[in-house]
Amino acid sequence: MARRPAQAARIAAKWRKLAEARCAEKGERLTPARLAVYAELLACDRPVSAYELIALLERRQERKIAPLTVYRHLDFLMRTGLVHRLQSAQTYLPCDHPDHPHESQFLLCSSCGHVDEVESRGLATLLSQIADEHGFRPDNAVVEVKGVCGTCAVGEPD
Ligand SMILES: [Zn+2]
Ligand SMILES: [Zn+2]
Repeated sequence: MARRPAQAARIAAKWRKLAEARCAEKGERLTPARLAVYAELLACDRPVSAYELIALLERRQERKIAPLTVYRHLDFLMRTGLVHRLQSAQTYLPCDHPDHPHESQFLLCSSCGHVDEVESRGLATLLSQIADEHGFRPDNAVVEVKGVCGTCAVGEPD
């Protein structure tokens, strides 16, 4: 039986262009395998763990995939700023605005799992001021705020 070509999740041209541009900036190439992982994350409506991601990729490509390969692609996608990792949940999600480097801030809904990536220059500046005052050199200033999203809050009884 002929092997089927690996099928990637469909990805909007806009995201593909952005991703290719980010990789080119770093002198890297968005290979089909890397793109497949990125596209799968874009197709998810919430952050997923590496294991969920591997299962999704295996289902789509109808073959076994070595976890190590997926971790390597995830590392690459994080390095290029296309994907973020939520420390608290150990899940991955595509960046909402990969066109420029930024510190990430996330609003995590504990009810539906939805995550909003927000960007506040004010908060980033404040954090670096606080670190300065303590003679502290942060190498990662990701902020994760847990709570209930607007949609879930509406459905909640008072
Ligand atoms: Zn981002
Ligand atoms: Zn919610």
